Amino acid sequence: MEKINLYNITRNELKNLVESWGEPAYRASQIWEWLYQHKVSHPDEMTNLPKNLREKLNTETYMGTLVLAAEKHSSDGYTAKYLFRLTDGQLIETVLMGYGDGRQTACISTQAGCAMGCVFCATGQMGFARHLTAGEIVEQALFLARNLQAEGKRLSNIVMMGMGEPLHNYDATRQAIDLLTSYQGLGIGQRHITISTVGLVPAMKKFADEGLQVGLAVSLHAATDDKRTPLLPINKRWPLEELINACRYYVEKTGRRITFEWALIAGRTDTVEQARALGRLLKGLKCHVNAIPLNPTDGYTGRPSDPAQVQKFVDTLAEFGVSCTIRVRRGIDIQAGCGQLKSEVLKRQQ
Ligand code: SAH
Ligand code: SF4
Repeated sequence: MEKINLYNITRNELKNLVESWGEPAYRASQIWEWLYQHKVSHPDEMTNLPKNLREKLNTETYMGTLVLAAEKHSSDGYTAKYLFRLTDGQLIETVLMGYGDGRQTACISTQAGCAMGCVFCATGQMGFARHLTAGEIVEQALFLARNLQAEGKRLSNIVMMGMGEPLHNYDATRQAIDLLTSYQGLGIGQRHITISTVGLVPAMKKFADEGLQVGLAVSLHAATDDKRTPLLPINKRWPLEELINACRYYVEKTGRRITFEWALIAGRTDTVEQARALGRLLKGLKCHVNAIPLNPTDGYTGRPSDPAQVQKFVDTLAEFGVSCTIRVRRGIDIQAGCGQLKSEVLKRQQ
């Protein structure tokens, strides 16, 4: 029989498993606490379990698969980036961002590569390798939570903004959310999780119907179809009108404000004309714009906007009553942009 990854199964599945071994259900609760509260890395550390159960766990299950392949820490000490190798050799990235107020946010990947082909994105430039399992998604957060715990800190937030398109890997993403928020587990609240999507409209509606309080970020980057399609090819399939309707639906269903992500690309997405179009597009929608000067990548010629143009963009949006924050590009010195550490490591290997 194939061994089971303990990070891949729900609490209920774990209960069924231990019961199938003739063990009482409360053993599942104990194991769950060892996995997600104590965050041990081996069944032998689960000291309140009888020896035969620990042996059973050793022979029938395993705990995760991620192998750390590289890590980098930014000079300001607030950002760390990890590259993990999966069992089939694929590489994925995970970033930890610390904030002055004590928040610790994990930026985790949902796929190896990405099929959406956004032209400015290092992950998109690599193409799609495969979906991650729920266990592979959760283990990234657990890895960071374990490190933080050793320092007396706690992982407080999760953003699914690493490599890949979470809604393209819907089921594993959905299950990962369950695992991350599970009772007596990592203890992360739904409201402290954000998933970011390029705008897969049917999946966005389905996700809205799940009745969760998870935050939704939408990668918009342009406010007219003629500008968005060349940047994000998925816009051809689901153009802006359908996308914004899906966003309205999400707000209606969840009551939560949507975040729109916007890469400021000189002369392309940072113009007053785009800011006006964006102001009109978002009128009356409960939302916020997170703009960030483009992180340059090898496969794309666009450049980040200069500060004066960024200010013009923000001021124009303000005229339409749309709130906008300019994010500082964090961890530039450690290639903390999506897909950039993997690109760098692969280049070194060549
Ligand atoms: N696939 C999802 C989540 C992963 S990408 C999505 O696209 O939303 C996380 C965010 O980084 C997205 O908003 C994406 O558009 C943005 N991004 C990717 N490459 C970038 C770059 N070179 N500069 C600035 N933002 C970038
Ligand atoms: Fe995929 Fe998101 Fe990158 Fe687009 S921006 S290629 S959807 S990871």
